[in-house]
Amino acid sequence: MKHGDQASLREAAALLQGTLNGIAVTGAGISVESGIPDFRSAGGLWSRYNPAEYATMEAFLYNPDKVWEMWYELADTLKDVSPNPAHFALARLEELGHIKAVITQNIDALHHHAGSKTIIEYHGNADTIVCPACRRRRPMDLSQRALGAPRCECGGYMKPDVVLFGEVIPEYAMTTSERLARGCDVLLVIGTSATVYPAASLPYLAKEGGAKVIECNTEETAFTNTITDIFLQGPAGETLPEVVRLIEAQ
Ligand code: NAD
Repeated sequence: MKHGDQASLREAAALLQGTLNGIAVTGAGISVESGIPDFRSAGGLWSRYNPAEYATMEAFLYNPDKVWEMWYELADTLKDVSPNPAHFALARLEELGHIKAVITQNIDALHHHAGSKTIIEYHGNADTIVCPACRRRRPMDLSQRALGAPRCECGGYMKPDVVLFGEVIPEYAMTTSERLARGCDVLLVIGTSATVYPAASLPYLAKEGGAKVIECNTEETAFTNTITDIFLQGPAGETLPEVVRLIEAQ
């Protein structure tokens, strides 16, 4: 495992440049430089709303109005954010042909806004809301905030169209991600603490399939000393654009 010095950046660039079969797996850390706190940031949303208490299906069913206080605040945080250089670097790697998909745990849609084309939103997307009973969907509407948990035409409460703790990952996202992970040559894993399963299993599947793993994170994770081949330590908004710059300088 190599750390994030210039030699590691060059090695990561060479690995990516040598493949047309890479994938990226991203977590909350890639969006921290866009101003969206991850689960750990002090003072962030998650330090006021414990995800185990607010982001579970059980909590939604027990008290939808309480859970919607947090979801409206999250929607308010997400409404004005923009992609950062790390999101744009992944879109460029796809354009150059070196990665063929981004699998994201994030619900902020920033990979779409950055121009990535093949995106698997493993945990859904907070732009829409869905009725768990009849599956009707409609856009998230912050203007309804004062009314509390939104109601569906069928009479039930609606929830954000994201996977809450206690819900299963949509079949398409799960099977496609696993297939991509098992079959890739290089897997980039960016800004995830390696703790939320089954998303955290994807880098292990890739490694079992013979892929090289490049990890971008500000801190070491459970991947770092087990399956990571190259560790690019630092903010992804700095390391990823540098990798792209090195590829384009060739
Ligand atoms: P996490 O919050 O558990 O971990 C974030 C990781 O990113 C940490 O390892 C941290 O060291 C790293 N990190 C922080 N800043 C970074 C930076 N600038 N560059 C690189 N790495 C950085 O996140 P997770 O593993 O994705 O799990 C959290 C769950 O919560 C996921 O399911 C995710 O969907 C959800 N979530 C999503 C968002 C979002 O959509 N932006 C935000 C918070 C949480």
